[in-house]
Amino acid sequence: MPVPEGSVPDDGDALVVLRGVDKHFGTLHVLQSIDLTIRRGEVVVVIGPSGSGKSTLCRAINRLETIDGGEIRIDGRPLPAEGRELARLRADVGMVFQSFNLFAHKTVLDNVTLGQIKVRKKDRRSAEERARSLLDRVGVAAQADKYPAQLSGGQQQRVAIARALAMDPKVMLFDEPTSALDPEMINEVLEVMRQLARDGMTMVVVTHEMGFARSAANRVVFMADGRIVEETTPEEFFGNPRSERAKDFLSKIL
Ligand code: ADP
Ligand code: MG
Repeated sequence: MPVPEGSVPDDGDALVVLRGVDKHFGTLHVLQSIDLTIRRGEVVVVIGPSGSGKSTLCRAINRLETIDGGEIRIDGRPLPAEGRELARLRADVGMVFQSFNLFAHKTVLDNVTLGQIKVRKKDRRSAEERARSLLDRVGVAAQADKYPAQLSGGQQQRVAIARALAMDPKVMLFDEPTSALDPEMINEVLEVMRQLARDGMTMVVVTHEMGFARSAANRVVFMADGRIVEETTPEEFFGNPRSERAKDFLSKIL
């Protein structure tokens, strides 16, 4: 199989590896032979027009979607189909969605504690300790005893990030984490993500925030119609896009 230009070799640093991944929804071919390698500590920003398959790609990495062909490996292991293995793998892959997806009837603290107890089998005390330190890290420590609806969108999204981090994931996936936020809250969430990136977290970020892509990405993956059309550095992508699709996309959003 030809290796696309700019792709990363499948070396020991590879944390998430997709090889020839295919996905259909009925007659719609939403992921078309996707090859992608994410290395440890890398921040990969995925951009592309609506409907190009970005969310499906994220969901496939977390096995919220099955795939029809090809292979996905996390830290050398193929994605298990189901059961406890799958639960553990999901915990290794933190996911933050556009809609914050917090448990509405649980406090902020419980939201960040539950998975640690249920999946990571921690005792409540150490889980709460870790939760408070993460809530502090994302700047919402004072909201620990409130319910999600009492928080702003930006605060809820930061809690969602803390909840994912509480599982000690190997990689974090962000699917348009700021798209549902009021403009004044976007930056507080991006700042938390920038800090995570500086701390060395491996991240896959689907976003339309081009400022974030320029400043935080090691690599930009541009998708269109279920394919990776360009895969390069942010400097190259924004300064010298090669494909007509990318040029057209950038002309509309910049
Ligand atoms: P993006 O996140 O880039 O906007 P998606 O991955 O959400 O794209 O969707 C890619 C394509 O797959 C779109 O045409 C979308 O309508 C379609 N699609 C996504 N999820 C489903 C589903 N569960 N059933 C049928 N079609 C879907
Ligand atoms: Mg999407």
